[in-house]
Amino acid sequence: MTGTLTSTPTDVSVIRDVRPWGGEPADLHVADGTIAAVVPHDATAAPAPGDVDGRGLLALPGLVNAHAHVDKSWWGKPWVSYGGEGGVLGRIAHERAHRDELGIPGVDVTLAVLRESVRTGTTVVRTHVDVDLGVGLRGIEVVREAVAVLGGAVHAEIVAFPQDGVLRRPGVLDLLDRAAATGADHVGGLDPASIDRDPVGQLDGLFAIAERRGVGIDVHLHDGGELGAFQIELMIDRTLRAGLQGRVNVAHGFAVGQLSGSRQADLVAAMAEAGITMTTVAPIGAAPLPLLALRDAGVPVGLGTDGIRDLWSPYGTGDLLALTTQLARLSGLRHDEDLVTAARVASSDAARFVGRQVHDLVPGAPADVVLVDAENVPDAVVRAPRRALVVAGGRVVARDGEVLV
Ligand SMILES: [Zn+2]
Repeated sequence: MTGTLTSTPTDVSVIRDVRPWGGEPADLHVADGTIAAVVPHDATAAPAPGDVDGRGLLALPGLVNAHAHVDKSWWGKPWVSYGGEGGVLGRIAHERAHRDELGIPGVDVTLAVLRESVRTGTTVVRTHVDVDLGVGLRGIEVVREAVAVLGGAVHAEIVAFPQDGVLRRPGVLDLLDRAAATGADHVGGLDPASIDRDPVGQLDGLFAIAERRGVGIDVHLHDGGELGAFQIELMIDRTLRAGLQGRVNVAHGFAVGQLSGSRQADLVAAMAEAGITMTTVAPIGAAPLPLLALRDAGVPVGLGTDGIRDLWSPYGTGDLLALTTQLARLSGLRHDEDLVTAARVASSDAARFVGRQVHDLVPGAPADVVLVDAENVPDAVVRAPRRALVVAGGRVVARDGEVLV
């Protein structure tokens, strides 16, 4: 197959002649869905069945979407005009009023948005899945079924997500507990102060489940300024007390970007000490997270799409590399090493957000590889070129912008 990329979704033996992270040409040997070896490119080796010619393209690890909602997209369906009120409560109400008519949650719509994500190089997602009094745990079953249909093209870590609130909807805490008992990886939360109006109560409920069931916690926190910071402090206290370092994530956390100088630095330092992580969706119009300060303090940051074309918002394409461009731009990144940081946020550094020890172009990592025609990593980040090839678990799953699963 020399000179052309493979066109069949078959197992790969060797991905030849690629430049991992823009480095020297290398051959990636794959066995059992894992990278077995990374060796200097051998131009004399005869092509064998299962080989892929990478044509000297730049190789990145599969992209990691650390904050998705794949249960609620209407990707692939006719355009849906937004007809709800503004604000978080307006969007929640709009979604609950109209999701049934769109078949949400449903395997077909989840498959559509997952396939689109795979097409653009995402091989792992941490997805929040709505758990509420209307759908119960059905959304989680739907996501599992859709992921299974794709046969390893994408892996999903699941957050049982109380989109409609926790304490303000009696019965939801029990649902979250049941989700955690039946395999969800994390329990989610939502603005404990402004949605439930009981930040201590919501967080105590979530932490009790995490301790009892051994799952993580991932809280959507839109609340800004001091109200948001106060809730992060409540999470820091409880994380340290429960010994849940590394298991608690703040999604959005706009407050962190809004605080000034020393207040921000002190909060970030306390988060680092408690092993609290953050995920951002690189939102336009919000104070960006201090990405480099978080990096330097040791607070891991993941990047996610948030909802993609759903009843909250028509925006989003699922293209995580394009979103990396947005993250870098909003964060004012210019230096090469900082642009590489952005690429690592969207891939290798996000391993922890999806339950992996390692997610990189190294031996022992899952063989999740994305090839792009780019000069170097900064060039790939600022341009987000078409994904020439996507390999997931050692299988070619997308090629030249076409998904094969
Ligand atoms: Zn979200």
